[in-house]
Amino acid sequence: MAADGDGARPRTNQADLGALIAQLKASYGERASTSLAVREQHAQGFSFHDIRPADVVVMAKTEAEVADIVVAAAKYSAPVIAYGTGTSIEGQLAALEGGVCINTAEMNSILSVNAEDMDVTVEPGVTRKQLNEHLRDTGLFFPVDPGADASIGGMAATRASGTNAVRYGTMRENVLGLRVVLADGRVIHTGGRARKSAAGYDLTRLFVGSEGTLGVITAITLRLYGIPEAISSAVVQFDDMEGAVNAVIATIQWGIPIARIEFIDEVQMDAINRYSKLNYGLKPTLFLEFHGSTSGVTEQTTRMGEICDEFGGGDFQWTTDAEESRRLWQARHDVAFACVALRPGSQAMATDVCVPISRLAECVLETRKDIDAEGVVAPIVGHVGDGNFHVAFLIGPDDREGDLIIANRINKKLVERAIAMGGTSTGEHGVGQGKMAYMDLEHGEALDVMRTVKIALDPNNIMNPGKIFTI
Ligand SMILES: Cc1cc2nc3c(=O)[nH]c(=O)nc-3n(C[C@H](O)[C@H](O)[C@H](O)COP(=O)(O)OP(=O)(O)OC[C@H]3O[C@@H](n4cnc5c(N)ncnc54)[C@H](O)[C@@H]3O)c2cc1C
Repeated sequence: MAADGDGARPRTNQADLGALIAQLKASYGERASTSLAVREQHAQGFSFHDIRPADVVVMAKTEAEVADIVVAAAKYSAPVIAYGTGTSIEGQLAALEGGVCINTAEMNSILSVNAEDMDVTVEPGVTRKQLNEHLRDTGLFFPVDPGADASIGGMAATRASGTNAVRYGTMRENVLGLRVVLADGRVIHTGGRARKSAAGYDLTRLFVGSEGTLGVITAITLRLYGIPEAISSAVVQFDDMEGAVNAVIATIQWGIPIARIEFIDEVQMDAINRYSKLNYGLKPTLFLEFHGSTSGVTEQTTRMGEICDEFGGGDFQWTTDAEESRRLWQARHDVAFACVALRPGSQAMATDVCVPISRLAECVLETRKDIDAEGVVAPIVGHVGDGNFHVAFLIGPDDREGDLIIANRINKKLVERAIAMGGTSTGEHGVGQGKMAYMDLEHGEALDVMRTVKIALDPNNIMNPGKIFTI
């Protein structure tokens, strides 16, 4: 969306802003940019919210530089917005009150790999693909996979997950410790390398998912896992969505340690077939992946085939061929592009909710009814093992505003339904600006406790203001 103002509601007066920019340029030279193109490029991510550029973007190289930039910004009460790779979806990166954007892309060192303990410590700009490339020879890998090649700092800040979370957990389960620059420039560490600790408040969990509103993360210690000896993938199609979801519920209840279990509705299958040149039936479909020993994977796959059969699944096609699996999962990762190709010139506005798995079928069905009643095209795809699913609304190009009104209307009903079912307004994309309106409904009094924590750590509200909740 076009920029709707250069620093729309500036927090800092022009004289102070000039002094701050002069100080940052003196310290960081060309690494401190005021070019509008650079500032806009850092302000949007993949969101549908207005672009609100920061006043200056600084490429930081070290934790000490991050602390220095935060102290400089704090002196003038200027907001600070951390930037990873800009793949967030809910308007998290907009500099609503101007300020300084800190790009962490050049803080991309892998600080230590402890193969025996199966952990790694990285700087925030390391991306998940870079990390796994680095780890390949150790026989270990980091499983959290949001599809996009996001930064580990951004993934920690949004509490990201993705297709593997049903087996390996989300960033919440996989971050062991952090280093964080606070709003006053103090640098703290939280957690550590121990697999468990009962030592005081769990500050790691507080910062994971805080979307840059409490501090800038400068190092992350992560759990690692052994690369499985064998991997198999499978596809199974169902006549109706309930059959697919009931098969998922049975899989989880049986304790099959499935690595990925993705639901794709018939509209999304059509998009995938066209975009990835596949020829599956246009039916509710599960994409599955199993990890383990060769015999373990065979056992899991066989049992899964039986479960799918029980719930009306059709031909259970499975393979251990790496190239075939890669093609399947590439098609799954390309769903965003596949959606957009359904309506040339459009953009996808993605939303996500998460519900207890027993309510998943009902939630998806009601949502499909809402979409069809509005007469719009909106594919549904989900990490269903966790009860998490996405709807992609196709916006524009002919009537962008009209499309957005319809998308927001369906989205509101979806989120309220998910919360009423005991679920959440977002399973993984985060709150940003897009889900702020639902925080009160979801958290009640607890939202005030969040505000209290925020004010205690960031009394001048300089850390990514206007996200998650207002002060
Ligand atoms: C095609 C596509 C598919 C996606 N699929 C998924 C999915 O399956 N699961 C999922 O979870 N997400 C998904 N996402 C969303 C996105 O990839 C995640 O939210 C990701 O974690 C964002 O990381 P980033 O590095 O791009 O962060 P950014 O977009 O750069 O930043 C996101 C937020 O984190 C803050 N932040 C960034 N770095 C730091 C830091 N060092 N310290 C403090 N705060 C920081 C920012 O201020 C901002 O609030 C998808 C996105 C796309 C485009």
